[in-house]
Amino acid sequence: MRSKKHCNIPIFIPELACPHQCVFCNQEKISNTFAIPKPNDIKNIIDSYLETIPKDSEINIAFFGGSFTGIPTEEMISYLKAAYPYVKKGQVQGIRISTKPDYITEPILDILEQYGVTAIELGAQSTNDLILVKSGRGHKFDAIEKAAHLINKRNFELGLQMMLGLPHDSLELSLQTARDIVKLKADTTRIYPTVVVKGTVLEKMYLNGSYKVLSLEDAVNWSKEVLKIFNEAGTKVLRVGLHPSEELELGKSLVAGPIHPSFKEMVLSELWNDILLGKLTTKGDLAVKVAKNQLNYAIGYKGKNRDFLKKEGYNIKFTSSSTLKNFEIDVCHN
Ligand code: SF4
Repeated sequence: MRSKKHCNIPIFIPELACPHQCVFCNQEKISNTFAIPKPNDIKNIIDSYLETIPKDSEINIAFFGGSFTGIPTEEMISYLKAAYPYVKKGQVQGIRISTKPDYITEPILDILEQYGVTAIELGAQSTNDLILVKSGRGHKFDAIEKAAHLINKRNFELGLQMMLGLPHDSLELSLQTARDIVKLKADTTRIYPTVVVKGTVLEKMYLNGSYKVLSLEDAVNWSKEVLKIFNEAGTKVLRVGLHPSEELELGKSLVAGPIHPSFKEMVLSELWNDILLGKLTTKGDLAVKVAKNQLNYAIGYKGKNRDFLKKEGYNIKFTSSSTLKNFEIDVCHN
């Protein structure tokens, strides 16, 4: 049976008067760059998306881009009231929101439940207290734990996003964050390497030498190790890396950071290199089968894995198999 196409109707609502000062965020730029839709605009936005989305898709309305539950309650309810009729009529399957862990309370969850919200994504970023403090998040790990428990008590999908390479971060601390996200029973996650944006505290720290940005190579390797933890736990990874053409433009708002248009492909390519090295025993001519959607990653970014393994004495013919799942492998020695 063909699985349904998943489509989000994205509605960007940055929380403009945010009282926090996360070191990586430039609120002024956000407010000058994006026209923020008013609650009255929501119906038109949803209707125009619905005209273009195939009817048999699984559709969600996604209020993203800021701390949705941090905006004044009446305004938040106005946005939800505009979106909820589409859930009630069955035109969309649910509403997703993203917010900060310290903006989750029982009364807020009551409101979200009442107006058809199905998934809550929290920007956890790290579970290490010192990283959270040095990043200006305005809360510590206990706030993430508390929010996750409150959400898990109800029927919401829980997402916990993480960032790699924040001030004071290390590979070991990032791995601990991934393990904590699994322990907190997140259904989904997103992995974002930290980048330095103009006009941020992080830019000052970067320029005065008190912050060192992750290299592309380290960001790829850290992401790969973090991904292994999520894959093993069955946590769905919705996103790996930032795309240069979206939030940031090279040479403009981006000062420094591990951004690459093929970041995810590079991460999966490295992950497959590890899988192959763990499975291959006998050198020579080999046939390797992997799931169809993994074939390019197994061969490697720009054929990297195939070429590297050839040099190591493994002459591999890669093919796809419809019976294998993600990251499963079938090796046949010719
Ligand atoms: S990233 Fe931090 S500073 Fe920026 S809007 Fe979110 S909470 Fe506020």
